[in-house]
Amino acid sequence: MTSSRFDLRGKVAIVTGGNGGIGLGMARGLADAGADIAVVGRNEAKSKAAVEDLRQRGVKAIAVPTDVTDRAAIEAMIARVVKDLGRIDILVNNAGMSIRKPPHELELDEWNKVIDTNLTSAFLCSKLAYPALKACGNGKVINIGSMMSIFGASFATAYAASKGGIVQYTRACANAWAPDNIQVNAILPGWIDTDLTRGARQQVSGLHERVLARTPAGRWGDIDDFAGIAVFLASPASNFVTGTAIPVDGGFSVMA
Ligand code: NDP
Repeated sequence: MTSSRFDLRGKVAIVTGGNGGIGLGMARGLADAGADIAVVGRNEAKSKAAVEDLRQRGVKAIAVPTDVTDRAAIEAMIARVVKDLGRIDILVNNAGMSIRKPPHELELDEWNKVIDTNLTSAFLCSKLAYPALKACGNGKVINIGSMMSIFGASFATAYAASKGGIVQYTRACANAWAPDNIQVNAILPGWIDTDLTRGARQQVSGLHERVLARTPAGRWGDIDDFAGIAVFLASPASNFVTGTAIPVDGGFSVMA
């Protein structure tokens, strides 16, 4: 049956940064397909609102307050999800941030903060969730890259390095965990209207218009644009898809 390929009932997903923006868009898609969701983030008010939104979709949802740069906190988060929701089938490494400065102005602590949040967190969450992902029999890891996984930008020094790293980390894990029937893929969002890019639009003059002119679809992306790809990469429909980096960008990356 076609529909069963996309059926996530009985599965449990962790979405880091699932309390807003692209993470919430993906969490909503996974919940609509039947998955129970653990929302991981620091802002408890935002996480509470996201959990209420997800429960309205008829699934179990819990908020697990966690800073994904803190290894001990991630360990506790994984244990809590297994205890409260029973298993882990899907891990979405989405939490991310940027510090916009040219390379010669970026300080080491700023570099480390971006790399820790965007790249090392994906390593730690994946490594620590691996036993549960293996045990479920058909684990799925979805890592969030960026157009900065492909292109560069003068203000995206550590950010571009972290997002390039996400793609290579995805490929390495896909190789390592294929024998465990765990598929590991990356999504590369184009320019999406979220808190992150609202900040960028304030700091980088002309960005809004440049994105519109450069995007074949002629619009900024919406968080709802990530529901379908999340369900595909989390479901049995993608069981022979691993190690890929799929742009969801309105054609930005193929514009001549
Ligand atoms: P938002 O700023 O809306 O969301 C970022 C999320 O990450 C928040 O939920 C935040 O939760 C969480 N987060 C940040 N730092 C931490 C931390 N240390 N510990 C736990 N959670 C953290 O941004 P987007 O939705 O735009 O971004 C989501 C992902 O998509 C990021 O990886 C980003 O790089 C990527 N992306 C976004 C694009 C865009 O155009 N918007 C384009 C390409 C990639 P909290 O504050 O509660 O901790």
